[in-house]
Amino acid sequence: MDRLESLSYGRPEGSPIVTATILDGKGMANQIRAEIAQEVAAFVDKTGVTPCLAAVLVGDDPASQIYVSGKEKACAKAGMTSELHRLPATTTTEQLLQLVEKLNGDENVHGILIQLPLPAGCDTLRIIDAVDPAKDVDAFHPENVGLISQGRPRFLPCTPYGIQQLLVRSGVETSGKHVVVLGRSDIVGKPMAMMMVQKAEGANATVTVAHSRTKDLPEVTRLADILIVAIGVGKFVTADMVKPGAVVVDVGMNRTDEGLFGDVDFEPVSQVAGQITPVPGGVGPLTITMLLKNTLTAARQQAAKRS
Ligand code: NAP
Repeated sequence: MDRLESLSYGRPEGSPIVTATILDGKGMANQIRAEIAQEVAAFVDKTGVTPCLAAVLVGDDPASQIYVSGKEKACAKAGMTSELHRLPATTTTEQLLQLVEKLNGDENVHGILIQLPLPAGCDTLRIIDAVDPAKDVDAFHPENVGLISQGRPRFLPCTPYGIQQLLVRSGVETSGKHVVVLGRSDIVGKPMAMMMVQKAEGANATVTVAHSRTKDLPEVTRLADILIVAIGVGKFVTADMVKPGAVVVDVGMNRTDEGLFGDVDFEPVSQVAGQITPVPGGVGPLTITMLLKNTLTAARQQAAKRS
């Protein structure tokens, strides 16, 4: 009997223990950031242009402030510049649209990041739609989403892009594998599924998307050779929901009084999975890294258009 066949779901008493390999997102992010820093230096040498990311932060959500400050620091370390536009929570959609227009027209700004969520008074879709698609380094604009779905992306959205890089660089085969994406948000779940189904490296998968209306969820998740979880419910995925030997990618970031937790119940699942990302130190650092990559790509595209 095959080693994996000898295992039962949920590691019942007496069954052999599989200890998953940890997919080290933090280490990989550092490696990719070093590569990007070299590419930025070469780009600046060649063009005299320094890639610049403009971040827009509306209101004072503490998590958003942490994310934006992390992004600014990462830009500086990669040799890029960044500018932070801080606006009060009372900012109207019209005021925000004016700022976006200004940034769209600013030749020194190559990437625009609207930190989400916006306060309830702001019309998020109108703001996203107003960002110049050429500067939409989050890849949220419908034009960029459409290009992804047709397999000719201008930018890839940062979190799914980071996950795909993690899989490819860790040598995880995706072609012909069954990928189950748990969660169907516009930011993670849907673009992730769209990317994995493409005829491309790190894709060519058979993809299932599951969500809160999915029936018999554990049966669906147990089909996954690669299970990608982005639901925002701490420790939701338990060992009995995972096929022995599966690759488990945990996108969740759930802050509690006891600390930061993913959507996967890490300890028991890591005894069933073959490979697993930790939280923290998994997907999070890769997300910021791919934002840097997209900002460099945006600067390159804009420089090429001008020359
Ligand atoms: P979201 O917009 O809240 O979407 C959550 C998705 O999960 C929805 O599709 C929802 O289904 C589904 N869901 C919720 N509860 C469920 C349940 N009990 N069973 C099955 N499906 C369920 O979330 P998001 O923006 O994708 O974020 C998800 C998590 O990832 C959050 O913890 C967030 O902080 C984290 N995140 C991390 C990063 C990173 O860089 N590490 C980046 C982005 C997000 P319905 O559609 O049916 O409601």
